[in-house]
Amino acid sequence: MGLIVQKFGGTSVGNVDRIRNVAKRVQAEKNAGNDVVVVVSAMGKTTDVLVDMAREISAFPNKREMDMLLTTGEQVTISLLAMALHDIGIDAISYTGWQAGMKTESVFGNARIIDIEKERVQEQLALGKVVVVAGFQGITVEGEITTLGRGGSDTTAVALAAILKADRCDIYTDVTGVFTTDPRCVSTARKLLSVSYDEMLELANLGAGVLHPRAVEFAKNYSVPLEVRSSMVMEQGTRIEEEATMEQNLVVRGIAFEDGITRITLIGLPHIVGTLSSIFTLLAKNHINVDIIIQSATSAGQMNLSFSIKSDDLKDTIDVLTANKEQLQYESIETESGLAKVSIVGSGMVSNPGVAAEMFDVLANNGIGIKMVSTSEIKVSTVVEFEKMVKAVECLHEAFQLSETTDVKA
Ligand code: ADP
Ligand code: ASP
Ligand code: MG
Repeated sequence: MGLIVQKFGGTSVGNVDRIRNVAKRVQAEKNAGNDVVVVVSAMGKTTDVLVDMAREISAFPNKREMDMLLTTGEQVTISLLAMALHDIGIDAISYTGWQAGMKTESVFGNARIIDIEKERVQEQLALGKVVVVAGFQGITVEGEITTLGRGGSDTTAVALAAILKADRCDIYTDVTGVFTTDPRCVSTARKLLSVSYDEMLELANLGAGVLHPRAVEFAKNYSVPLEVRSSMVMEQGTRIEEEATMEQNLVVRGIAFEDGITRITLIGLPHIVGTLSSIFTLLAKNHINVDIIIQSATSAGQMNLSFSIKSDDLKDTIDVLTANKEQLQYESIETESGLAKVSIVGSGMVSNPGVAAEMFDVLANNGIGIKMVSTSEIKVSTVVEFEKMVKAVECLHEAFQLSETTDVKA
């Protein structure tokens, strides 16, 4: 007998029949003698619909009210799932994020979990109940309702699994596991048997939407045994674990990509100590996430600075930079939107020089220009035009032979 945390995403709870299907999955774990905590997302595209409605009402909806609105989606699912469980004879209780003790920092729209008061959930488990928790939401010390960022239900589930010391956390979704790249974009993408926490963290951070990056962070930090699998098809999924199964001769494990990237260039900055720190401190204080940074010296003690941001942050970034033009002493700003980031990821890169060169070669041979580059020990990211994104992924997938190899046990 153990404790299992199961998480079901939007598609998996997309209608009443699917909620009944989820109830059966929960029943199977219960019948196997386990305690079960279930975390669910809003039904289908509910969150998108709510976002669209808010934007129809207001071009820049208030962030507190946005979280108040979006958290309603998950609240619908928890109550319906609890009812579906009751109907098949399983004692269950639903909790919103705050009822389940999810404490977050005071940031609307993208809050981090800072603590979980687990007692209430544990008391209900001790009574033999299945506890159904609303994903993606929490509460601040001031009592304000927050959300964890899009896709954040994964993080609710893994954080609960960590704090409750669950034996397993299963993420049920609409694909059968983690693939070499998004199987909805590249038909030759192949399911991985296992992937390491570090590789998964890179893939998730670089745009592989199958797992929320902070969920992987929690899983790694607390060694939570995690599996991504399908809620519809009964087959083994992908394990995310410390030592991933090795793949023969394979340096690159997966390809991640994301669109909606903008490059900002500040021209004519003073080339003196402290310039970068003033700019990036200012952006950080305004909660603007900067990704790739390129600095280049020009003549007469000046420099240019390019950095990439999410296009959604473009207005805020320009507002902040413009309001502080005098202090930052740049001459002008240039922006280029309509960009995308394509990244190759694999632990094998550490000991294999030349992977970046091969990536650049493949892109060049396919007429894909590279606008920015960043590397780490286990990834290489390139910024390209959005129109070239899918082609870039496809040709890299082929060049690094990602559809060909088979997983083998280490
Ligand atoms: P859920 O609502 O269950 O959380 P998501 O839409 O958030 O589902 O995540 C699943 C989706 O992630 C898949 O439908 C797929 O399109 C996308 N995805 C992106 N990269 C990958 C990948 N490498 N492997 C599997 N799925 C991926
Ligand atoms: N419902 C939220 C979203 O669509 C959270 C999640 O599904 O994980 O982003
Ligand atoms: Mg998701």
